[in-house]
Amino acid sequence: MGKILDRLKVTENIRVSGNIAGMVVDGIPVQIDETKEGIRLSVVCSLGFFKSIKADIDQDCKEQNIRCPYYEGMKAFFFIANDGAFDIVFPKVKNVIAKYLTEVKELECPICKRGYCDTAAFSGPYFLPVHRACIAPGKYEDEEKSGGIGMPHLLIGILICIGILLINFLFLIAMDRQMSVIYILAGAGGAMYIKSKVPDISIPGKIIYAIFCVASHVLFPFLTVAALMAQNRGIAFGEMISRWPTVLSYALSGDNFFMLLCIAGGMALGLWSIFTNKDLGKSSTKNIILPL
Ligand SMILES: [Zn+2]
Repeated sequence: MGKILDRLKVTENIRVSGNIAGMVVDGIPVQIDETKEGIRLSVVCSLGFFKSIKADIDQDCKEQNIRCPYYEGMKAFFFIANDGAFDIVFPKVKNVIAKYLTEVKELECPICKRGYCDTAAFSGPYFLPVHRACIAPGKYEDEEKSGGIGMPHLLIGILICIGILLINFLFLIAMDRQMSVIYILAGAGGAMYIKSKVPDISIPGKIIYAIFCVASHVLFPFLTVAALMAQNRGIAFGEMISRWPTVLSYALSGDNFFMLLCIAGGMALGLWSIFTNKDLGKSSTKNIILPL
């Protein structure tokens, strides 16, 4: 947890989880993320409300010569580059929220689609008004616990890993063993895809991917070496496969050191990518709940 969130914890009614925090300003949920670019303040609101906020903030920032880039969308984003600027912009954000209070109050609960919300909580990536009853156990919090196995995305991730290995196989047959460097990308490529789609993929999902990742990293190099040996000896590929102990002993020989190194690296990177969880804070945003 960074300096600013640490400090806000003392002065504001704020709930922090990792590098994400939620607070309520005059009955409006405000999300605070610590990003590499700086502190990001987000308010879920209509485009009309966002434009009003933006005009006010722009005016104030211009006067004080503060850089405050923003993004438009469903939410209002305010990027504050550093600690000093945060102290100037944060009160302004709070002021405009107070000023446009009624417009934001009209937001409906994303779960039941009705108004008169009484609680601020995360629904997916957004900190917004909901009903306490709507986030009761079993309705919303359970979904937040884990993204599950995410089967369709898991399968696509496995296919990406196998696809890259297949491309590598074709390159190695047509060219030379320097192309083994592509092995580095296969496992991590599939894992990155899965995690971009299912950030909280469950442990069984990770294990399924890991098994396919390791198995394909053994199978494809074996097939590649068999194909190369069949080419050299002028015999059929199937014939070479049937002499698998010969293929295996040659595959593991010093001749293939670079390839083996790349495979080991690719396998390790694939496993590391699927098992590490950079956004640990996000997985526990379900604990960030405040009354409005
Ligand atoms: Zn509701």
